Amino acid sequence: MRVDVAIIGGGAIGAAAAYFLRSHPRACRVAVIERDTSYQLASTPRASGGVRRLFSLPENIALSNYSIPFFARFDAEMAVDGERPAINFRKGGYLFIVPPAAVRVLERNFEIQKANGVQVEWLERKDLKAKFPSMTVDDLGAGVLSPDDGWLDPYGVLQGLRKKAKALGAEFVNDEVVGLDVERRRLRAIRLKSGKSIEAEAVINAAGAWAKEICAMAGWTVPIEPMRRYEHYFESAEAIEPLPYIKDVHRLAFRPEGKGYSGGVPNLDEPRGYNFDVDHDYFQQVVWPALAARFPQFERTKEKNTMSGLYDQNEFDATPIIGPCAGKLDNFYLMAGFSGHGLMHAPGCGRAIAELILDGSYQTIDLARFGWARIAEGRRCAEDGIV
Ligand SMILES: Cc1cc2nc3c(=O)[nH]c(=O)nc-3n(C[C@H](O)[C@H](O)[C@H](O)COP(=O)(O)OP(=O)(O)OC[C@H]3O[C@@H](n4cnc5c(N)ncnc54)[C@H](O)[C@@H]3O)c2cc1C
Repeated sequence: MRVDVAIIGGGAIGAAAAYFLRSHPRACRVAVIERDTSYQLASTPRASGGVRRLFSLPENIALSNYSIPFFARFDAEMAVDGERPAINFRKGGYLFIVPPAAVRVLERNFEIQKANGVQVEWLERKDLKAKFPSMTVDDLGAGVLSPDDGWLDPYGVLQGLRKKAKALGAEFVNDEVVGLDVERRRLRAIRLKSGKSIEAEAVINAAGAWAKEICAMAGWTVPIEPMRRYEHYFESAEAIEPLPYIKDVHRLAFRPEGKGYSGGVPNLDEPRGYNFDVDHDYFQQVVWPALAARFPQFERTKEKNTMSGLYDQNEFDATPIIGPCAGKLDNFYLMAGFSGHGLMHAPGCGRAIAELILDGSYQTIDLARFGWARIAEGRRCAEDGIV
């Protein structure tokens, strides 16, 4: 098989790249290689579904400014033969809350967000109490609410992008990449477990938490590690007013889901590795105290369900690495290291990589600072404040 662009990994990122490569005015031949069409261990279906513009890096805000309206139009735009996906985008808002010591950083980010066109509301402690009467606010300095953000169904996003990319002509190959052939600074062919191979002009590595294994096949060492994270479902015995997606400086992050709530507390000290085991004590020991301290109604809550999934954690600066391995493998593009934000940024990144490959430069969102050069040169490009 010979294509213009081969994409390794058919999760949200790979499927988005395929969609934008096929819907570009100079659409090219695209193959997406995905080893597991049931996506059993993939990160996308295990995501919490939060989508927000509350970032400090203008690139991350630009990605959200592009992606969130895309999600709002998703069901109509991704329809195939009149059949619409349903991603249940809920514009329930996103709220960051911080203690007094972090108010200055929150304020700085609030100004950056406003300057980048985000509709954000500054909430003093008393405003937080007035808006969310059940919330314990004594320890808080302030909050920022982004009312146009919210959450959606990650599996719906994945299936919608995949089906639309296929309908537009992208070929999905059910196989596993086991090797890469390199020839004079170019990646020539992808070797598959079935014994077949695919030749491509350009190759995108969208293998998520497995991205470093794919890079290693071409001799490229990247600082991306699989990091286990739990998503819990829990309910409250007592009613709480409607809540947005809430996130604090201790990494507590949760949102309404059906009759209850979905969320968790990512642990950055988690040993890296492909570990999907669930430790049911974690909710009781870490998540529950954080919830109960914020809302007394959670005093008696219990974990009803816990799912584990992997972050593709960029150990260097927790910002994604987008673009080619310039100077070494000019036609090998990395799209990974999303460190917990890959679902919400999939449309923006898909569009950006399609432009980089087909137009030769970024047109809509400039992700040059997210390129490999910063890692090679040791320049961090990190979020400030809540990540
Ligand atoms: C608990 C949890 C909560 C999260 N919450 C959010 C959130 O609220 N918002 C948000 O934006 N993000 C969230 N994320 C992060 C988000 O899930 C990821 O950033 C995103 O799904 C990454 O998409 P991906 O396509 O790169 O990876 P994946 O979905 O993992 O896709 C990669 C694919 O590559 C395939 N693959 C790997 N190796 C090979 C190979 N050798 N050959 C062929 N195929 C291969 C895999 O089978 C997989 O399907 C969360 C993650 C977790 C774990």
